[in-house]
Amino acid sequence: DYPYVDDLQGLSLRNVQGTLTADGEKIGSEFGEMLFTHFGVSGPIILSLSNLAAKALDEGKEVELHIDLKPALSEEKLDARIQRDFTQYSKKQLANGMKDLLPQRLIPVVCDMAYLDEEKFINQISREERHRLLAALKNFCVPITSTRPLAEAIVTAGGVSVKEINPKTMESKLIRGLHFAGEVMDVDGYTGGYNLQAAFSSGHAAGMAAAEE
Ligand SMILES: Cc1cc2nc3c(=O)[nH]c(=O)nc-3n(C[C@H](O)[C@H](O)[C@H](O)COP(=O)(O)OP(=O)(O)OC[C@H]3O[C@@H](n4cnc5c(N)ncnc54)[C@H](O)[C@@H]3O)c2cc1C
Repeated sequence: DYPYVDDLQGLSLRNVQGTLTADGEKIGSEFGEMLFTHFGVSGPIILSLSNLAAKALDEGKEVELHIDLKPALSEEKLDARIQRDFTQYSKKQLANGMKDLLPQRLIPVVCDMAYLDEEKFINQISREERHRLLAALKNFCVPITSTRPLAEAIVTAGGVSVKEINPKTMESKLIRGLHFAGEVMDVDGYTGGYNLQAAFSSGHAAGMAAAEE
């Protein structure tokens, strides 16, 4: 189980880049908003990546989410930014010196992931330690062990193959008079309207064709 669930639940992050890997290989990446919940991670970019995660988990692969907490800054620029903050807050403890950089609740977790004591004074942090911090900010790793159950799914992948459906009438190519629409077909799009549109359009086509028969 993810050790930071209790520390992070309820925290939402904006403008992050989430990259999903399966057995170490990149399988998808999304930029935007996400949140930590009582079960792990959720929110727009997580929903968009979840079908890739589900497929990879189904294939028995080890799935990880790598969150770049500062995607707008290259490693060099972020390092320069951290050094600026560290100069400004040199006499403070790490937990206080990172306030400008991260939401409060992320600080202890990021420090822990970088094997750094958040109570350490900033003027005692070595270059190597700062680089560990940088790595944790650019690659905040969350292991993905499962998806939420189907009952909570927003969109379902899989269903009747579109190869078996006449796209004009939505009629089955295998069974006359049987028309399909919406989620029952193997069609899934990004959340944000595409699935509703697919359901409305295919439903309209199916309904019109069925009524004409
Ligand atoms: C929480 C949530 C948020 C979503 N947000 C978005 C979004 O922002 N944008 C987007 O594009 N899509 C979104 N979706 C997906 C979208 O709602 C679906 O893709 C779309 O509604 C599918 O339409 P449908 O008619 O195929 O199926 P449904 O809307 O699921 O309709 C199927 C109907 O069949 C009924 N039914 C089931 N079994 C039987 C039975 N045996 N006998 C009689 N009736 C039965 C069900 O009660 C239901 O009313 C969201 C889905 C959820 C759950």
